[in-house]
Amino acid sequence: MSYSDCSDWSQCQACGECLMNCPVMRMGLEEAKETIRRLIRGEAAPRVFEQCTLCFNCNNYCPVEGLRPHELIQQRMLESRACSPEYIKYFLNGMPAPVIWHDVYSEMSPAEKAILLKWSEIPAPADELLWIGCVGRMSCRDIEQSKILGQLPKYGPPDLCCGELAYRMGSWQAYADTVERTLQRFADLSIKRLVCYCGSCYYFFSNILPNVYGKKLPFELISLYQWLWEKVAKHELVLEKPLTFTAAVSESCYVSELGPEFWEPLRKLYQAAGASLLELEHHGYDGMTCGTMSMVRKGNFTASFFSMYKEQRKKYQEVKAAGTNQMAVNCPGCFLMPSFTNAFHGIRIRYMLEELLQAYGDSITRPMAENFRLMRKWVAKRMPRLLLHKGTREFPRIPVAEPIYEYGIKSEDMPEVDFRMNCRSKITA
Ligand code: SF4
Ligand code: SF4
Repeated sequence: MSYSDCSDWSQCQACGECLMNCPVMRMGLEEAKETIRRLIRGEAAPRVFEQCTLCFNCNNYCPVEGLRPHELIQQRMLESRACSPEYIKYFLNGMPAPVIWHDVYSEMSPAEKAILLKWSEIPAPADELLWIGCVGRMSCRDIEQSKILGQLPKYGPPDLCCGELAYRMGSWQAYADTVERTLQRFADLSIKRLVCYCGSCYYFFSNILPNVYGKKLPFELISLYQWLWEKVAKHELVLEKPLTFTAAVSESCYVSELGPEFWEPLRKLYQAAGASLLELEHHGYDGMTCGTMSMVRKGNFTASFFSMYKEQRKKYQEVKAAGTNQMAVNCPGCFLMPSFTNAFHGIRIRYMLEELLQAYGDSITRPMAENFRLMRKWVAKRMPRLLLHKGTREFPRIPVAEPIYEYGIKSEDMPEVDFRMNCRSKITA
């Protein structure tokens, strides 16, 4: 199976709606019709391969149920490339070390590692459970001590993942292996509703998993933003530190497929917390990306970086045109990747989740910006060697059944925990 196998392309009417409505290319009718025909036939589509930002928006404009032009484009883009750059593996949870998630978790304090260890156990049956993915685990101490999230049992073993990075960076096999691992472990959960700390996990579990991969989780799903809005709407949360700024909302690319059910609570929450919001020219079904996925188009790091920067510049221009220099983002990726370039444009990026939790009374002792400094440090350290490698067409398989990491507890007296991750090798405690 591959990305484009989720759709029956014989159903495509070559109406061109997908590419005519693309917020990046806005093709004319004839060009759009010809391009989609070429893509279906497996032929090169140079303009798409050069400009598509892999934002998912075109999926919303297709009038045929079940067709996903984004997935067709992603598949053809990958086929047009001789191999995938080696550095991509560094970002995929489950690949043989070095992997960025091992690197950043390994620098945590013993107390934080103890929390991750606790989150690796299947919790007691409950109505709701908070799922914490790769990025959220870096904030484990604040999540564990959160007043707002205190009522939710937590689950987030460091070797499980929603598969977003594997999927989006172009390894279908790594995505399939990752979700199979996660599904196997999720099968032991006895819950009614899974609350996803990260919007990307929510999108991948609620949309890509059933609509592309063809499997469904056996419980309801909700994003933490929606969960928080439920609480605020019922007056179950008290505003302690109102937000007093004006910002333009920059939605992540998956928001267009999640629709108003996701983007309205985002805005209502921010406004209820006191912030004034401005809209970008492109938003909702027409949103533009933070540029990160444009990197997938290119086979080398420098070209990828400039592809990303080109999209980020457009975003910053829209923020300024909206009348502010503050950009509020809901996705960790939209916070991390623009943080390489925002200062050059005088743009301040605000991570909505962190600000909302603080507004309703939580303390953030390890802000996402600090986590990302750590990530950037590791990327700078690992990247030179990774860039020396020639890419590969196939990535190593991720084991589905066996745990990838092992943890040895030195003493029963927490928090003295020896938390070691050693991909695919045995550890003697
Ligand atoms: S994925 Fe986004 S940029 Fe690419 S064709 Fe679709 S709408 Fe356009
Ligand atoms: S993928 Fe959908 S929107 Fe695009 S040309 Fe085919 S039928 Fe039309």
